[in-house]
Parts: sequence; structure tokens; C-alpha cells
Amino acid sequence: MRPDPPDEAIPSPDPQPLPPIEPKRWRCCHCGGTGLDSYAETCLHCEGLGFC
Ligand SMILES: [Zn+2]
Ligand SMILES: [Zn+2]
Repeated sequence: MRPDPPDEAIPSPDPQPLPPIEPKRWRCCHCGGTGLDSYAETCLHCEGLGFC
């Protein structure tokens, strides 16, 4: 004789793994993320980071 399953939906406070937080930076609109401008020099927009 099996016990009946509970009728009520028990809220399960299972800790959900947080998704990886992406840095709040965006690919540079000037160099496209390469960090270099059209002259193959350090992008002044992002200072070579590729993000701005
Ligand atoms: Zn930019
Ligand atoms: Zn840039």
C-alpha cells in the first residue's frame, strides 16, 4: 500500500544556480571589439580593451 502523493504543490525553495553574470561592457562600437582602430593602432574609444 503506497502513500498517496500530496495534492498540494509544495513550493520548493531549491536554490537555483545563478547564471554567470556578464560584465556590463559592450563590444566597442568603434573598433568592433578588436581594440584596434582602422589604422591598426590602439582604439581611442576603448583604449584597446575592445569594450566600451
Ligand atoms: Zn566604442
Ligand atoms: Zn574600441
